[in-house]
Amino acid sequence: MIKVAKTAGFCYGVKRAVDGVYKEIDSEKKIATLGHLIHNPQVIDDLEGKGVISYDSVSEIPKDYTVVIRAHGVGKNIYDELEGREVIDLTCPFVSKIHRIVSEHHDKGYQIVIVGDKNHPEVIGINGWCGGEAVIINDVNYKIDENLAEKDLCIVAQTTINREFFGEIVQNIKKTCKSTLVFDTICSATKDRQKEADEISRNSDMMIVIGGKESSNTRKLFEISKRNCPVTYHIETFEDLPQEKTYNKIGITAGASTPGSIIEEVVKAMSENVKNEENFAELFAQYESKTLNNGDIIDGTVVEVRNNEVIVDLGGFKYNGQLAADQLTDDPSLKPSDVVKEGDTIKVYVVGVNDGEGKVVLSRKKLVAMESWNKIKAAYESEEILEGKIVKAVKGGVIALTDGSQVFIPARQASGRFVQDLQSLVGTTVNYKIIEIDERRRRVIGSVRVILEAERKEREEKFWADAEVGKKYQGTVKSLTSFGAFVDIGGVDGLVHISELSWNKIKHPSEVVKEGDVLDVYIKDINAETKKISLGFKKIEDNPWTIAQSKINVGDVVKCKIVRMMPFGAFAEIMPNVDGLIHISQIADRRIGKPEDVLTIGEEVEAKVTDLNWDEKKISLSIRALIPVPEKEEEAEEEAPAEPQKAETLVYSTDPDVEVEEAIEIEPAEEEEAPVEEAPAEDAE
Ligand code: SF4
Repeated sequence: MIKVAKTAGFCYGVKRAVDGVYKEIDSEKKIATLGHLIHNPQVIDDLEGKGVISYDSVSEIPKDYTVVIRAHGVGKNIYDELEGREVIDLTCPFVSKIHRIVSEHHDKGYQIVIVGDKNHPEVIGINGWCGGEAVIINDVNYKIDENLAEKDLCIVAQTTINREFFGEIVQNIKKTCKSTLVFDTICSATKDRQKEADEISRNSDMMIVIGGKESSNTRKLFEISKRNCPVTYHIETFEDLPQEKTYNKIGITAGASTPGSIIEEVVKAMSENVKNEENFAELFAQYESKTLNNGDIIDGTVVEVRNNEVIVDLGGFKYNGQLAADQLTDDPSLKPSDVVKEGDTIKVYVVGVNDGEGKVVLSRKKLVAMESWNKIKAAYESEEILEGKIVKAVKGGVIALTDGSQVFIPARQASGRFVQDLQSLVGTTVNYKIIEIDERRRRVIGSVRVILEAERKEREEKFWADAEVGKKYQGTVKSLTSFGAFVDIGGVDGLVHISELSWNKIKHPSEVVKEGDVLDVYIKDINAETKKISLGFKKIEDNPWTIAQSKINVGDVVKCKIVRMMPFGAFAEIMPNVDGLIHISQIADRRIGKPEDVLTIGEEVEAKVTDLNWDEKKISLSIRALIPVPEKEEEAEEEAPAEPQKAETLVYSTDPDVEVEEAIEIEPAEEEEAPVEEAPAEDAE
């Protein structure tokens, strides 16, 4: 059995560099690379055959040549040397990032430490961004001197080194140095390749590692594989394959600079060697299964971000994909560079492949919409509650947007109540459930109402489980009628009867409360069968008669205001909502025909409290008792006592519950007020 690593072959940076140079070959330009483009002699030979010459230094390159900077990158000094010359910079973006880190921290005064091979061109280039002053460590037992231990260190890694090796060196440095800033700059392509080599080699009798002998990352793969599988070979082409007996399990991986064609040749040769006959095409497909079809969804790597499109490396497929700006995101205000950057991994949908033109058209929006549709379908099946923003009002309802999917919510399902102006919902965020789905027409219908109704039902059940007479609630006035106010006390409505709303006599609830008011109420009566609840609102301590009882005593002289006249006397307000009666015989010290002969409405007078009956809410007052009796009269009175004061038997209350008593010897008083509309029973529907 042969196992070929999926990560074998060109990495993103190398492919970008190789493609970049081959693209320029067809132009009229004379091309020179600064150092070998990649660590692979076969590729270098091919390029030389096409006129691409490799030089070791800038000074050697003729002036009429365009200079290619390879994926390894170069130091700042080389850019200075190239000033004024035509340059194609194919430095891998991951290496450029290290240059930025080193330059920035060197400028801030950090001592740069590079963990890697001091002779590797990438490390030489990195060192060129701190004036060549970096300390380069490639040994876990490196002795840190006192001078270095005192400095603030900024530690970076060569992109292709082994992760464990880097970790060990960093630990060693940290034992001695006080101030270290560590950047793990090992490339994920390298990490992934090393991880897969480790896994495959553990299960192989024989490992083949393909790549240039100069390639550092290929050598690392060899080391890892050899640790797990003693029979490991490092080869450059199939011609280097050992002529040995056959093996049962053969693993194959390749360095980042190894072209797919060389891997293909090796796999082909090995497939003839294995004990079990296997189809070469199938074997190679493990590595080279890069045919693309419309509708494929694949992970790609962003290799270039242009103003109007993004170029995506499709991981081994011969052409890069084109992702137009309007297929990248729904938001037209965003530029491609706002959404992705070079090196990002991005999942894309293959819209079309044109082999003839070498073109692959991609879409990200389509993929997002598909994912969103799948989410909608799953939500429908599981009855999940979704969140959506109402983006527009349409005929008969509104449209909610959830993760890029549009969901129609009919007007009657858009709220728990009737909404006259659907436009007023636009911009709000709602929770809803999918209640209908039409897969063929891709139509989805949602409902906010089903959620609200379920919540209401739950609240109601909870209420009825706990409700009992006397229980207090804070409720909100929902509506008013002539007979009272309906108050929401947490999912259910109760009625506060008009007589419960005030200690005063009122004609309509609106004199006391309005919709939206929050009231402290309690359950006066409850009927679980009919679901009717009567609520109490008035507080006993606010009863004006209770207040008056604590303040007024028989014999007190009170200031009061005449508020009403009756044939048998005048009513005077002692305090708000507490009136007393001044009987006609107690208004003056003489006989009068009617109260108006002496008093006027609104007049303020002093009167003496002559009798109190709190149970019946009756207060008797007398002005006459405060008028001094002339001496002569006093004598006369002694001889002929005055008529008994009938007022003591005539009292009146302003409390609406207390009826007027008729005066003795006085004609019955006419009804003072028009009858008040009779209120229905104090309960709620
Ligand atoms: S190994 Fe990583 S850092 Fe190096 S060239 Fe390839 S992608 Fe770039």
